[in-house]
Amino acid sequence: MSEPEQATQLREVASNLMRKEPDYFGTFPVDVLIAWLEDRGTDHRVLCAYCDTPLLEDRLDSFNGTADHLLPHAIYPQLGFDKANGNSVACCSRCNWLKRTWDPNTHGDRLYEEMRDKGKLNKYQREILIKRSRDHVQEKLARRHAAWTHWVAACEALGR
Ligand SMILES: [Zn+2]
Repeated sequence: MSEPEQATQLREVASNLMRKEPDYFGTFPVDVLIAWLEDRGTDHRVLCAYCDTPLLEDRLDSFNGTADHLLPHAIYPQLGFDKANGNSVACCSRCNWLKRTWDPNTHGDRLYEEMRDKGKLNKYQREILIKRSRDHVQEKLARRHAAWTHWVAACEALGR
């Protein structure tokens, strides 16, 4: 399938989701759903881009998905979710919170330049920026675990 055909198919599938479940999928901008569909795993799962937690499963309590602005909206207002710009990433609420306004574009070579790229990330930029964000979140998760260990030790030191 050619790239334009693939894009058309993705848009159709996303629009169907919105039509079939308007109260849920209908509440997302279509381009967020397209990004989720593009990034999905080898089976039906949508995984968190930063920690691989499954975001949608066939269980009522399983929904844990959010859409992250890969390049933070506060710094790149031109990269909103409302356009097909490659900037939305499916991730779990924990990782979204951990990443917050961290900017993967300023860690390593600057890949996105507004003047040149005009509000759009290509596949290559997106891949590298996701990888940087993933490393950052993983590092934070590891540190958080250390904080928890210290917390437990502190509680134990208090003897209760
Ligand atoms: Zn996650």
